[in-house]
Amino acid sequence: SPQIVWLRRDLRLVDQPALHAAAEIGPVIPVYVLDDDRAGDHAYGGASRWWLHHSLESLGKSLGSRRSRIVLRQGDAPQVLAAIADEMGAGAIHANRHYEPWWKEAEDELADALGDQCELVLHDGNYLMPPGSVTTGSGDPYKIYSPFARSLLECLPPRDALDAPATLHSPESWPESDDLDDFDLLPTEPDWAGGLRDFWEVGEDAAHARLEWWVDEVADYDEGRNLPSQDITSRLSPHLHWGEISPVQIYHRLKDLRSDGWQTFLKEIVWRDYAQNVICQFPDYARESYREYDERKLWRNPDSGHLIREDLACWQKGMTGYPIVDAGMRQLWQTGWMHNRVRMICASFLVKHLLIDWRYGEQWYWDCLVDADYGNNGVNWQWISGTGVDSNMFVRIMAPLTQSEKFDAAGYIREYVPELAELGDQEIHDPPDEERGDYPAKMIGHKEARERALEAHRAAK
Ligand code: FAD
Repeated sequence: SPQIVWLRRDLRLVDQPALHAAAEIGPVIPVYVLDDDRAGDHAYGGASRWWLHHSLESLGKSLGSRRSRIVLRQGDAPQVLAAIADEMGAGAIHANRHYEPWWKEAEDELADALGDQCELVLHDGNYLMPPGSVTTGSGDPYKIYSPFARSLLECLPPRDALDAPATLHSPESWPESDDLDDFDLLPTEPDWAGGLRDFWEVGEDAAHARLEWWVDEVADYDEGRNLPSQDITSRLSPHLHWGEISPVQIYHRLKDLRSDGWQTFLKEIVWRDYAQNVICQFPDYARESYREYDERKLWRNPDSGHLIREDLACWQKGMTGYPIVDAGMRQLWQTGWMHNRVRMICASFLVKHLLIDWRYGEQWYWDCLVDADYGNNGVNWQWISGTGVDSNMFVRIMAPLTQSEKFDAAGYIREYVPELAELGDQEIHDPPDEERGDYPAKMIGHKEARERALEAHRAAK
């Protein structure tokens, strides 16, 4: 009987356990359901929708070249899938486990909705180790990164990567499919996606090409990863997020390299597993603070006043008067991505210099990032704002001007804040008033902001 493969953030053919298992049993029907309502405030943002469109297009072509196809539908995923299973007489629906709370719910609902003839078979596909499987000696999940990482590294190597199925048999007839254009995922008026098109190649082949490029670069990662002016990070994040490549594939491709760069890089991939492990334990992690603060005393709430709303808008548009922050926020807007060091600086600036609730920042990144990830985004925002289970970083206030000099961001600022491009390497980090031209003055001085933040923190504790 036909086997349905329910695709979500696993848009690939290689090392795709659900697809692999289905292909071994019978004819395969790959299905993607756009379920816009289920995630609530974490429905896909604009940049994610752009990426998803191109990733589905690319996967559709790969499947087409193997005489298969992808069935596209919209609506409530469990209901849509159960109806297709019924119509096609499917023996099973295969899916790789996803850990966002709305997807876990959908998995439960689907299992309940299926009749006796069809079962839901869940596989582990998108992480080095299945989330929840790395535990302390007493079997409890870890809350803190370092012991989690130590323990996970001891479990490696992960399982072998699976090849793409050699053949995909088609069912006798195909269920109906929407056109990809019906999903309405691309911006039209205005078409803001030009910068994304210039910056990215989307899809599984592009992910593999990026990994091959990275094989030669990763040795320099240890030294270079903090320098935004240089291109020494993998930029695999959207490919990983959308499952165009799996971390298991990355591990096996790089494991024989002996460089420090590879060891450091592996620890970043482990951060991704860690974030998912946190989401498993605390499903609301991207929405709720987990420390005992009186948050009304900590944050200036943009919903409560015009001036605070304007502060938030200056940050979003990259008009804070701090060149490193503005370069980052503009890179985010133009390309759908931001360098990790700068993501930290910008996040810290919002929550500490502007004292705006981290959730406004989380939502802005969510809307703008092509790699927007419920786990990685929530965990990193909570880590910066010191509101999560892992650290209390609030009182460690990053100094944006010092960071900018220390990590040599002059070239990066020139690229994304062109109105400062003529300034020298010394002054570009903090241009003197007479050199700013149309570029704005600093919204707030660093010392003043720091004192205000520490005071608010004292009051909220
Ligand atoms: P590399 O440096 O090449 O790292 C390789 C991979 O490891 C990344 O692709 C990513 O999958 C993983 N990784 C690296 N750093 C982290 C980290 N700190 N936490 C979790 N995983 C990590 N990453 C996302 O994928 N999605 C997000 O929504 C996201 N939001 C963030 C929000 C804030 C406030 C901060 C500080 C960081 C956030 N990150 C997020 C983590 C990190 O910035 C990006 O993963 C990284 O910049 C992506 O670029 P890269 O692929 O070149 O990374």
